[in-house]
Amino acid sequence: MSKLFNFFMERSSVSIVGAGPAGVFAALFLARAGIPCCLIDKAVFPRDKICGDGISGWVLSVLSKLDKDLLLKLNRQDFLVHSYGMRVVAPNGKMLDLPFLDDNEVSPELPPGYICKRIHLDNFLVEEAKQKPEIEFLEGVEVLGYARKGGKNILTTNTGLTIISDLVIFANGANSKFMKEPGGIVKDAKWTMTGIKTYYKGISGMHKKNYVELHFLKNLLPGYFWIFPLPNGEANIGVGIDRYRIKKHRINLKKLMFEAIENEPHLMERFKNATQISKVEAYSLPLWDKKRKIRGDGFLLAGDAANLIDPVTGEGIGHAALSGMFAARQAIRSIEKGDYSEAFLKQYEDDLYEKIGRELRISRKIPRFVKYPWLFNSVVKRAANSEILQRKLTLAMSDLEVRKKLKSPWLYIKILMGR
Ligand SMILES: Cc1cc2nc3c(=O)[nH]c(=O)nc-3n(C[C@H](O)[C@H](O)[C@H](O)COP(=O)(O)OP(=O)(O)OC[C@H]3O[C@@H](n4cnc5c(N)ncnc54)[C@H](O)[C@@H]3O)c2cc1C
Repeated sequence: MSKLFNFFMERSSVSIVGAGPAGVFAALFLARAGIPCCLIDKAVFPRDKICGDGISGWVLSVLSKLDKDLLLKLNRQDFLVHSYGMRVVAPNGKMLDLPFLDDNEVSPELPPGYICKRIHLDNFLVEEAKQKPEIEFLEGVEVLGYARKGGKNILTTNTGLTIISDLVIFANGANSKFMKEPGGIVKDAKWTMTGIKTYYKGISGMHKKNYVELHFLKNLLPGYFWIFPLPNGEANIGVGIDRYRIKKHRINLKKLMFEAIENEPHLMERFKNATQISKVEAYSLPLWDKKRKIRGDGFLLAGDAANLIDPVTGEGIGHAALSGMFAARQAIRSIEKGDYSEAFLKQYEDDLYEKIGRELRISRKIPRFVKYPWLFNSVVKRAANSEILQRKLTLAMSDLEVRKKLKSPWLYIKILMGR
């Protein structure tokens, strides 16, 4: 341990708290540039992370920038399925299948996304980190405190180890204690979702191309029930809704989820021979609500600790991966200049928002029309009968210019009028 302390006193400039997608990608990009860092996680891997397990194209894109061979290796793993689209189910049970645009920039053989239990995905990445001589990986070590003295960051841990660095990347997830102090982010219940998930085996009627299923049930709106198919006939099942509504309407998410499985006509039949194979677990999703400062003198926030989850899709893994990549790039710039000031770290925010800011802003403004079951039913009904509309919605998932139109109430009026 003292070797580590001396090592980092002398040579390491960067410490990273949390080895989820945000932290591990930051460490891997630093390692690729030959820069030593200390990656710390309170868990011992493999560890699970409560999640829907939907892995979007952003993750593939970041992984390909890091190491294409590693992406191809991930693509061959039998712990994941390739997913090609989304099935939206309206409150009245009407279904709409929307294929993801198959425009993978990395390789035409790769799918647009994966579904993969986080215990496997995160461990796959952590195993890679463990092989890098530049990364000192401390697992089972919880960072308890942070202080800044003499231009250095001092992290204290549950093992008694003290880690000193020029730059800290806080990537320790949705419940990060460093999000508020020193991060300065105060959570808003309207923009914090609670999600629960469990695993089932033997649900019938899955799409043959592993579409993720979003079921917009009447008493869950604007939240939804999801079924994400996994290998070996398993699936990730869950529901999510914002905390403000949960509190206001005293919603019991677990009860709602099982009631849906037992009583919703289009779900009952499919779960008839299915078995629940894990307990129900809950966790929070800090949704992006506005552009925030996610840096300070000597530190950056990344991933969920920076509240980067898409407020419409609930997607956070891809944004966490991207923020890890940009945090590493900023760390490299800071080391080159010897500048870890809040002002100099701004480039990190600029790079990140340049990439995903527009997408997040658009998502934030899409009207929550799904609050109204009748409107939702009508839009899905019209779209199910119109190839043009289906194409528009498919494009809206990947093309920001088209998605922007979803912000306009006129779009829904036009759809309802059949135009
Ligand atoms: C129910 C649910 C469903 C979701 N579904 C999806 C989905 O289908 N697709 C999607 O893209 N996103 C989904 N998300 C969001 C996604 O899980 C997160 O956005 C993503 O995990 C964020 O990655 P991260 O690296 O920022 O944090 P995490 O993955 O949470 O990793 C943080 C790490 O920090 C460690 N840590 C925490 N505190 C400390 C400490 N003090 N010291 C040391 N280590 C610490 C933890 O052990 C953990 O390993 C879902 C979230 C929930 C809750």
